[in-house]
This record gives sequence, structure tokens and C-alpha cells, in this order.
Amino acid sequence: MRASRYLIATLKETPADAEVISHQLMLRAGMIRKLAAGLYTWLPMGLRTLRKVERIVREEMDKSGGQEVLMPAVQPSELWEESGRWDQYGGELLRLNDRHGRDFCFGPTHEEVITDLIRNELKSYKELPANFYQIQTKFRDERRPRFGVMRAREFVMKDAYSFHLNTESLGETYDIMHQTYCAIFDRLGLDYRPVQADSGAIGGSASHEFHVLASSGEDDIVFSTESSYAANIEKAEAVAPAGERPAPSEELKEVATPDQRTIEDVSKFLGVDTTRTVKTLLVKGEEDENGQAGLVALILRGDHTLNEIKAEKLEGVAEPLTMATDEEIEKATGCKPGSIGPVKLNIPVIVDRSAAQLANFVCGANKEGYHLTGVNWERDAVPGQVADLRNVVEGDPSPDGKGTLEIRRGIEVGHIFKLGDKYSQAMNATVLDEHGKSVVMQMGCYGIGVSRIVAASIEQNHDDKGIIWPDAIAPFEVAIVTLNAHKSPTVAEAGDKLYEQLRQAGFDVLLDDRNERPGVKFADMELIGIPHRFVVSDRGLTAGTLEYKGRRDEEKQDVAIEEALSFLL
Ligand code: ATP
Ligand code: MG
Ligand code: MG
Ligand code: MG
Repeated sequence: MRASRYLIATLKETPADAEVISHQLMLRAGMIRKLAAGLYTWLPMGLRTLRKVERIVREEMDKSGGQEVLMPAVQPSELWEESGRWDQYGGELLRLNDRHGRDFCFGPTHEEVITDLIRNELKSYKELPANFYQIQTKFRDERRPRFGVMRAREFVMKDAYSFHLNTESLGETYDIMHQTYCAIFDRLGLDYRPVQADSGAIGGSASHEFHVLASSGEDDIVFSTESSYAANIEKAEAVAPAGERPAPSEELKEVATPDQRTIEDVSKFLGVDTTRTVKTLLVKGEEDENGQAGLVALILRGDHTLNEIKAEKLEGVAEPLTMATDEEIEKATGCKPGSIGPVKLNIPVIVDRSAAQLANFVCGANKEGYHLTGVNWERDAVPGQVADLRNVVEGDPSPDGKGTLEIRRGIEVGHIFKLGDKYSQAMNATVLDEHGKSVVMQMGCYGIGVSRIVAASIEQNHDDKGIIWPDAIAPFEVAIVTLNAHKSPTVAEAGDKLYEQLRQAGFDVLLDDRNERPGVKFADMELIGIPHRFVVSDRGLTAGTLEYKGRRDEEKQDVAIEEALSFLL
């Protein structure tokens, strides 16, 4: 590609509303543009990388025996009624009506559609196992679309669904998909961990998530320092030793005035244990009665300053109602924003109520420790309904008895699931077994966030100049920067020749033939993150050399013109 004929939409300034580095760099490198909240256009530069991620996913899925299909993005409500999810799915489901007033949704996932297809197409155990996948646009009306394509509303997912006669067969395919995911994330050059995930809600028997390690991740994942134990925090908590959470007590109601209620009282009431040292204050709010979007999850960690909390953790408050003002932060934490150091909250405070109620929530410190005031417990608190206490903390022994637990942040890029017969039972998807008896099929499902991977990769591969792509998913593998080509026909010609040579050898090459200052061209190629760069200049040509610099290299080096290709190979 010639840069003079290509949309190089780089930006000098960091866009104000982009919080995480991948979002900033995707905008600055001209990969994406925002249309509306959670909706992004992929520009030519970004789409090249997205397609390369897709290609790797597709190749490995094909290798594992997956059969590619493409299902409609718009799905009729009838199928969702059958599975029971039309009523259960909640606000993330974008519901639509056609001109006849019939109900549809824009698919957030495709279990219903594939189950409907397969119950009609497969009749015999002989056709099993079978695994079908697609790479397709999903829509989820995320409550907090943020971080660019990382948590978008419209995004690209690879989703696969497998069908089996029995659970043994499901187990085999599940293991193959686990290996396939490792192969995909290895090829993508990601530093990732597969972790056990809780399969509770769907009732399946096993589930793993694949997390890219990054401080900007929205999930906590838990590892053992000594064994291969790894789980997401929800799973780790689910298996944490029993008896950690005392039964909710009604005693609190007897404490006369709010400011006499200590954290112990409240914890007792909520059914949580305060003898443990937990660094997390987790406050959850739902939309209030007026439909005002509230605080979804405000996680104040003990090591944040108040200013950070304000900047990083409160921005998702959609309406200015809640705790975004200094005064409200002060109310919520008992500390003056900006005036003191890190907030040290060593005590779990878990509150689950509406945004409006949260505004009334005051947590102040006194010499007995932290206590809560201003909460009408009889009205606001629901005993036993608070389940989000971080019952697992760093340094805990692990569940398998080896080592202690370490907690890191992760970005969920993949999720595999043994669904069992949840959908096949509800939708009556059966085959005949070898005795001619009708059997409900077992199912697995396997998702990968294809577009999220692009952002996750940048979170792990960047420096102060921009993105540093691994070769496998770089929009272009090689940049050729010509200096003063518009004045020097020799440079222009040498640039063209190298460009053709590398292209014919199979490289994706961007020839930066723009009539721009060298500094501008270098900065753009570095910002875009192209892994290899050759510079063609009059001075070099006189000496028979090109200047080479790898994107991660400190130093430039000269390479003889005729050796340029072999140098790359
Ligand atoms: P999350 O916990 O991040 O909301 P999820 O558990 O809801 O993700 P799954 O239903 O497991 O997502 O979907 C499979 C994959 O799709 C996820 O592992 C993730 O990589 C990707 N994904 C989910 N939601 C989004 C989104 N809003 N934007 C981009 N990718 C997403
Ligand atoms: Mg989700
Ligand atoms: Mg998840
Ligand atoms: Mg998931």
C-alpha cells in the first residue's frame, strides 16, 4: 500500500474521553472512530488488524474440526421465548419490531438460533459430535460501554456451539477447544491465562475464561503462587471455605441511632465477616425508580487516592445524580478529595442499592474504625442479599492446598462453557441413538472477543511512541519510508523497487511516499506500530544501504540494499 493513497488518520493529541491506553492509541493511530456510545467504525488501518485476528481464529477453528456458518444477526423472539431468555435477558438485549409489529432482537449471542438449526438438521447420533462456529457482529446494550472496542455495544465475536450424544463426547470437544484457544492466543502473541470460571447461573458443569493480563482489565483473576490453580474471582469465592460468612442477623435493627452502628453491626446484618482484612469496598447500585442510570459498580481499592477514585472509578455514572461531586465523594468516604493521601479501607463495606439511596450513603471514620451513618437500614438494607464481598484476598491459602493466592487484573478475551442440556432440553433438540431412542443432545459453547483482542493486544504492546504490533497482527509488517522522494527520483525508484520486492515475497508493506517531513513520517509509523522499518535516502543509496529499525529496537542499523529481503526472513 502506498501511504499517499491510503487513509493515514493519525492524531497528535490524546483524545480527552479515552481513558485506557489502547483506546487512546487506536484513535491516535487512525484505527477506529466513534460513531456513538459503544459504536465504532473500523478505518482501513484498524480493519487490517481486525481481519488478521479473525484469520488466526478461523484457521485454528478450522483445524480443530469446526464448521463455519453465518447466522442472522437479527433473531425472532419466538426462539427466545422457547429458551426462556426473552424475559430473563434484561437490558443488554436490544429488542426490535418489524413493520408488522413482530418482536425481534439483535443477537447478543446465538444459542437459540443454532439449537433451532441443529434440531432440524441433525437426526442421528452418527452425525455427532459436531461443532459450528461463526465470526459475526453482536450487539449488547452494555450499561457502561467504555474503553473503545474493549467494551463496545456492537462488536465482533467468534462464537461456536458443539453438539453431542453424551457428556463424555462434550468433554472431549471441550478439551479440544481449550487447546485451540491456547493455540489462538499463543499465535496472537498475548500474555494470557486460562482460569476456571463459575458456571453456576447456566447450570453447566465446567467453564473456563481466558484472560489477557493487564492492569486496565475489568476482572480480578486469582492464581496460586505454587500450583497451576487459576480462577476468576467469582469462582475462587464460590469455593472459598464455608463458614466465612455468618448468617445475616436482625440484631442491627435494635441499635438505636445510625451513628452508633459500627461496621461490625452492619456486617453482621449483611451477613459478612469483618474479622478478615479485605481491601475492597464494593458499592453496587441499580437504576433508581426514576429510571436514572446509577452507579453500577464502584470499586474503591485501598490503594487509590481520592483523586484517582474520582477520575477513574466514577466516570461511568451516566447521570450527574450520584457521587461525582467532591462533596459526595467526601460523604461516601469520609475523606476530603485531594486533601489527604491514599484511602485506607481495610474493612469490607458492601452495599447494594439504588443510585438515589447511594447518594444518602455516608461512610465516615472515627476512632472505633469506620462506621456507616445516614442509612435507613430498615428501608435500605436487605439481609443476606449482598453477595459481593471479596471473600478471597491476596495471601490466602488456595483451594488446592498449595501456595498462596495472588490476584491480578485480566481482560476476558475468551470463554468456553459446557452448557449440558440447558438449551437442547428447553428447545427439544434430540437425535436418535444407536438403539433408535430419542436423546436430548449435550451442548458446549465457545466465545472469543475478536474485536476486544485488538485492544487487549495494545494494552500489552505499546510504549510512549505508540503501538508495537506483533508481526502476526500488524496492519502492515514493514514500513518503507522514503526521504525527499519528490525531489530525488533515485530515492523514489529505490523505494518502489524495494516495495515490489518485499510485496512479492509475501510481506504486507506500507510505502510511506507521502510528501511529509521525515520526522512526521517516522512518528506516524511508530505510532501505528509497524514492526519493521526501512528508510531509503540519498545518503544511504550512495553507500548501497538502507537504514533498518525494528519497532522495539533502541538502535538503527544499516543493511545492504540487496540483503533487505533476506534480513527480514
Ligand atoms: P464481559 O464479562 O466482559 O462482559 P461476557 O462474559 O459478558 O464478557 P461472553 O458472553 O462470555 O462475554 O462472550 C464471549 C466473549 O465476547 C467475551 O469473552 C469477550 O471477549 C467478548 N465480549 C463480550 N462482551 C463484549 C463487549 N461488550 N465488547 C467487546 N467484546 C465483548
Ligand atoms: Mg458481559
Ligand atoms: Mg464475563
Ligand atoms: Mg464470559
